[in-house]
This record gives sequence, structure tokens and C-alpha cells, in this order.
Amino acid sequence: MDTQNELKTLSDQVIMNTYARYPIVLTKGKDCIVWDNNNTSYIDFIAGIAVCNVGHGNESIAQAIYEQAKTLVHVSNLYYTEPQIRLANWLTHHSFADKVFFCNSGAEANEAAIKLTRKYFYDKGQTDRFQIITMKHSFHGRTMATLTATGQEKVKKGFAPYVPGFSFVPFNDLDAVKNAINANTAAIMLEPIQGEGGVCCPDTDYLPKLRQLCDDHGILLIFDEIQTGMGRTGCLFAHEHYQIVPDIMTLAKGIANGLPMGCMLAKDSVAKSFSAGSHASTFGGNPVAASAAMAMIQLYLKNNIIEHCREIGAYFKQQLDSLNQSHEIIKEVRGKGLLLGIVLDTDGAPFVDLCLKKGFLINCIQGNILRFAPPLIITKEHIDSLIQCLDSLFKGKASH
Ligand code: PLP
Repeated sequence: MDTQNELKTLSDQVIMNTYARYPIVLTKGKDCIVWDNNNTSYIDFIAGIAVCNVGHGNESIAQAIYEQAKTLVHVSNLYYTEPQIRLANWLTHHSFADKVFFCNSGAEANEAAIKLTRKYFYDKGQTDRFQIITMKHSFHGRTMATLTATGQEKVKKGFAPYVPGFSFVPFNDLDAVKNAINANTAAIMLEPIQGEGGVCCPDTDYLPKLRQLCDDHGILLIFDEIQTGMGRTGCLFAHEHYQIVPDIMTLAKGIANGLPMGCMLAKDSVAKSFSAGSHASTFGGNPVAASAAMAMIQLYLKNNIIEHCREIGAYFKQQLDSLNQSHEIIKEVRGKGLLLGIVLDTDGAPFVDLCLKKGFLINCIQGNILRFAPPLIITKEHIDSLIQCLDSLFKGKASH
């Protein structure tokens, strides 16, 4: 096998430079551990950015993928295929939604949500209602409409002109939403807990009050649960923590444990605006991805994965809180379940590099926030070893 440096050089020659990558080539994984091509192991505290919820190299998911791949990989959505029907059936039985649209990524799921919103009001004869209010510091994807919906300049820079019909308000500020609503408003779209924006949780009454506001004005509420969905925050969907439901929800990331899949779910009253030909995706609901998703869901049920996430997430947060007590460098610990962040009073990137050298994959967002989104099967031992590592790194920092 080529060395890491040879592969890195080749990659620089042949792959567009859209990612700032860490200098390792990962070759295999088992549960919460991944290995590079020097056989160095790392405990994975990022899980492909909140994706591989039951970890790497899972036998029953691999078996489901293999069985489906040798039977039928793809036939297009011109025909029915059983795995996507079974998955949609499960998702609708376990959510507010009546219908699912399948696609292949988070951005596509949000595109579908934006299109469904516009079509819904078009069908009602209210074509002037097309504007979607989204949140500052949000992240909704990289397609033209979803980068427009995203409330972060760095994602948009250089790509103007943007798609018309979006306005932005600060997250967790109800008055700002009230002031932004006008005769053109069609929907409010937000992540129940902002992920890329810095693991920001809303006040407990914010989402219920947004729901009420939407009902009062006949506006749709769209939850982007691409990062928070499928158990990540300790409930199947993060909005369950707040006892309200949206009209539309998007999922991706953790839905198929690493196979590309996105879903846009809606109540019938809204979903009926999509009819044959309104929207489509060649690969959406692909039998292999749908089989992986069903196998993952079976593991959730068999092994009480979401309950484990809730318990171990609380333990992890407690440990981060006690680090916070002993290190001035930490300003705040936040998040829910296994989507956690620590806000530092300094640049976080050097700590990601140091953790990598010590055998841990973590991630830095917004410059100074360390984010942790491990597989939902992470153990107390893994957490203890990361905490020990962070403790010694922060101590080292203090002594310099
Ligand atoms: N929405 C949220 C909340 C996300 O976190 C992401 C990805 O990070 C996306 C949308 C975009 O998903 P994808 O990269 O699969 O297009």
C-alpha cells in the first residue's frame, strides 16, 4: 500500500481542494475505533460527523448491505422496492409524519423541504408566500438554495447571487422571529439544536413558542434534524425534548449508518403538494441504503441504543462539566445526548491536532468550540480516556 504521504500527494493532485484534511489515511474501523494505514488506532469521537451511530464495521449492517447488494442494488424509482417502503413505514410510525421523500444527502433533503413549502403555498393559491425565515449561524447544506438558507457568511462567500426568498434572525430570539414575519412568510426553518453553528441549544420554551407562532400565522415549521436526528441527542428526534412537532422534518447523516441517504418527512396535509413529477431523485431510497438503515434501526431496538445515548451522554457531559471546573480555558459546556461541545476562550484547532496525536478524533467548529459526536455505542472507558487526554492537554496549556 502507498504510504500516507504518497496518498496525500496524489490526493492533492487529483481531488478538488474543498476540504482541510488531517494528515492520516483511514483504512478500517470496528465499533468506536478506526485505524490508519500505519495501523495506528484512534477512538472516534466524531463518527463521520454524527453519522456512524452504531459504529464502524458492524456485522449485521454489513450483512444487510451484502444481502441486498447481491440481490438488487438499483432499479430507479420507476418501480417499487421493498426496503424503502419498510423504512418509510417505520419512520412514519415513529414520528409526526405521514409521508417520506427519499434522497441522498442532507442538502438534498433540505432542498426538498424548501420546494415542498413553495409548492404547498402555490397549491393554496398563495404564491406571494414563499419566504423562509432561517437562523443566523445555521447550517443547511451547500446547494444554492441550502447555502442561501444557511446563516453563515463563510459558506456563502463567492457564490452570489443567492436564491431569493430567505431572511435571517438570531437563534433563540422569539421577538426577532415575530418582527420578521410578514405577508410573504411561508415557513420557519431551523435546527432544533444548532450543530455546525456551535452546538447551541434553545431555551426550553423557544421551540414551543415558535410552533404557536407558526400556527397563529398559518406558517410551516421545518426542523432540520440532519445532525440531531436518529437518536443523537437522546431522543429519536431532538424536537421530542420540547414536546412539539414540526410540519416538515429533514434527516440524513445518521439515518443509514454511513451509507448516503437523506429523507424529507411531512404531514399528509403538506406532503400532498408533491405529486408524480413534482420532485425526484435517481438514487433516492436506494435498496442498499434503505436496507442498511433498517438494519441499524433493528440494532437500536435490540440494544436500546437511544437509552444508552441518553445515559452515556449525561455521563460525558458531567465529565466535561467537571473539566470546566478545573480549567479556565473552558468557557462553557453545552449540548444534549451525544452532541456535545466545549467552548474555549482560545483557538480550538491546536487541541484537535493534539488529540489526533494522542489517538482521538474530535472536531473544532466556529474556531473555538470542540465538538464531540461519537458513535451512540461509545463506552464509559472511551469517555474516561478522552477526558484524561483533554485534562492533560489543558493542564499543559495552563503551564505554558
Ligand atoms: N443540515 C445540517 C443541520 C447539517 O449538519 C448538515 C451537514 O453537516 C447538512 C444539513 C448538510 O448535509 P449534507 O452534507 O449531507 O448535504
